[in-house]
Amino acid sequence: MIGQAQHERLTALRKELHRFPELSLNEAGTAKRIATFLQELKPDELLTQVGKHGVMALFDSGKPGPVRLFRCELDALPITEVNTFEHKSNVPGVSHKCGHDGHMAIVCGLAERLAEERPATGKAWLLFQPAEENGEGAKAMLADARMRVTKPDRAYALHNLPGVEAGAVLLREGSFNASVNSIIVVFKGRTSHAAEPEHGIDPARAMSDFFQRSLALNNNVPSDPRMRVVSSVYAELGSKDHGISAGRAEVHLTVRCWNDAELDRLQTEVETIANELADRDRLGIEIGYTQRFHANQNDPVIVGQVRDAAGRAGLKAVDAPDPFKWGEDFGLFTAEYPGCMVGLGAGVDMPALHNPDYDFPDAIIPHGVALFEELARAD
Ligand SMILES: [Zn+2]
Ligand SMILES: [Zn+2]
Repeated sequence: MIGQAQHERLTALRKELHRFPELSLNEAGTAKRIATFLQELKPDELLTQVGKHGVMALFDSGKPGPVRLFRCELDALPITEVNTFEHKSNVPGVSHKCGHDGHMAIVCGLAERLAEERPATGKAWLLFQPAEENGEGAKAMLADARMRVTKPDRAYALHNLPGVEAGAVLLREGSFNASVNSIIVVFKGRTSHAAEPEHGIDPARAMSDFFQRSLALNNNVPSDPRMRVVSSVYAELGSKDHGISAGRAEVHLTVRCWNDAELDRLQTEVETIANELADRDRLGIEIGYTQRFHANQNDPVIVGQVRDAAGRAGLKAVDAPDPFKWGEDFGLFTAEYPGCMVGLGAGVDMPALHNPDYDFPDAIIPHGVALFEELARAD
């Protein structure tokens, strides 16, 4: 485990990142702070503006061996922080409610360890990815030629897990989290005088039937391989002009399953419902998708290596019985490179991810650094 002085330094860094959160695709300031921190450690290469705001640092043994990639995220969320502690967010309406500030501190801690002593073989790339929360960042970094030439043999990422014992490492072969998509359905009718709805086409009935029928597709049972979660996210109908009968409705849902194939089937069913209702009520219809996350697939061999590394680092490894229901764009990395995402327990008595009172627990920084350092030095 890292010493007390390093833990204090990384905690101070984490709190500074927490004070200055930035939304997905706007992480210029955070990227600059990280690049400045890394620059002082004199990595063998330092790349900035990879896939917009991404930052990458290389620590190279100069000898043959595995190319390892450690990925963390730069972005915060459009959530107003309700905490009042000293390091609370300085940016109205924006805060680090997923713990990406803590993930960055862990990878910065790994950078410090590798700056002190390079791995004995191979390379370690440390990657700070923008725009995880909206599903854009991994795609952008993977499209950047400077990322592509690194050709990692093993890609790693961790996510803190509130509700799980602090410092425990959660492992799972195969799916680690869900395949997720967001559906936008627009029903287009015709406004009329509110006194004469018979002269217009009101999308309200189609909208309410659409909610009823699409939410009925839910099978929110994580232990079932055919789990389906359909959630209402947002809706809009007509306007607040009380003399006008509504002429347009817009509904946003998220859908998630354990794999891409089941998600495709679920999306087709939701589309069929929307099209049937539009036909029934003579409405125009537009269906669009946004913020797709592919299910993250953990390579069984690499999961075994992480289990061994956790043992060497003195950490408790626990098998996760089911995957996690959130989307994670690290799935795009594991689609291209063998890799593994692990959970790091954040503590049992913790607000959940994306809660307005969430704050990353600094006590688990040493656990994350220890696990990643073992992996960075493993053959
Ligand atoms: Zn999140
Ligand atoms: Zn997150």
